[in-house]
Amino acid sequence: EESELISKKYPLLLDTVKMIADPQVRNLATVGGNLAHGDPANDHPATMIALRASVIAEGPKGTREIGIDDFFPDFFTTALETNEILTEIRISSPPPKSGGAYLKIERKVGDYAAAAVACQLNLNTAGSIEQIGIGLTNVGPTPIRATSAENILRGKSPSDDLIKEAGLLAAGDSDPSDDLRGGAEYKKDLLCELTQRAIRISIERSERSG
Ligand SMILES: Cc1cc2nc3c(=O)[nH]c(=O)nc-3n(C[C@H](O)[C@H](O)[C@H](O)COP(=O)(O)OP(=O)(O)OC[C@H]3O[C@@H](n4cnc5c(N)ncnc54)[C@H](O)[C@@H]3O)c2cc1C
Repeated sequence: EESELISKKYPLLLDTVKMIADPQVRNLATVGGNLAHGDPANDHPATMIALRASVIAEGPKGTREIGIDDFFPDFFTTALETNEILTEIRISSPPPKSGGAYLKIERKVGDYAAAAVACQLNLNTAGSIEQIGIGLTNVGPTPIRATSAENILRGKSPSDDLIKEAGLLAAGDSDPSDDLRGGAEYKKDLLCELTQRAIRISIERSERSG
């Protein structure tokens, strides 16, 4: 949270960490535990989806690497076997002109998300989006990759219309339920807006990065 390296190279991670619970919880909780719990309301899963991370699982048969897209097969379920523990999280070093952002709406400070969006992207020399990852928090039984939103942006020069369309597509990629944090339609509206904002901030940060 106070690391200069994380703040410079992985602003998405820094944004995410700051939005989790409160300092007391964060002082004890681990990123590995946040993933291994398999809770779709946790914030790190969507961020790791956006970063295209992988996790290392260690058990009696040795170690194996699990891609983040295969790690959350179902509600509160992970790809870990009962005799495995998560020992490592691997995130690639971001290429030049990379940036990311995590935006979360919560009812009050320290709460889980009504909806949240993680975005990580990099720009090519012409200013088009080369690679992009978008992860969604607490809007379905598992953390969700907003595949349609990613696909419409990849390889394109990011215009206002395109970013708006990506917001709508991300909402379409989600599967929220009505609950104490709001109705499903409200959450989709949040996602549409948060996705657009997260993309814009990610682009600004990419342009500023080395
Ligand atoms: C008041 C409160 C508010 C919170 N708010 C948020 C929030 O806003 N956003 C958010 O993302 N999270 C939130 N959390 C969750 C918190 O950030 C931690 O992710 C969570 O408590 C797990 O903590 P831990 O790392 O100590 O894991 P534990 O509590 O020790 O473990 C959680 C589960 O994962 C398993 N586990 C843990 N580590 C491993 C491992 N390395 N390998 C295999 N299995 C493992 C455990 O067996 C257990 O089933 C909140 C928690 C509290 C108590």
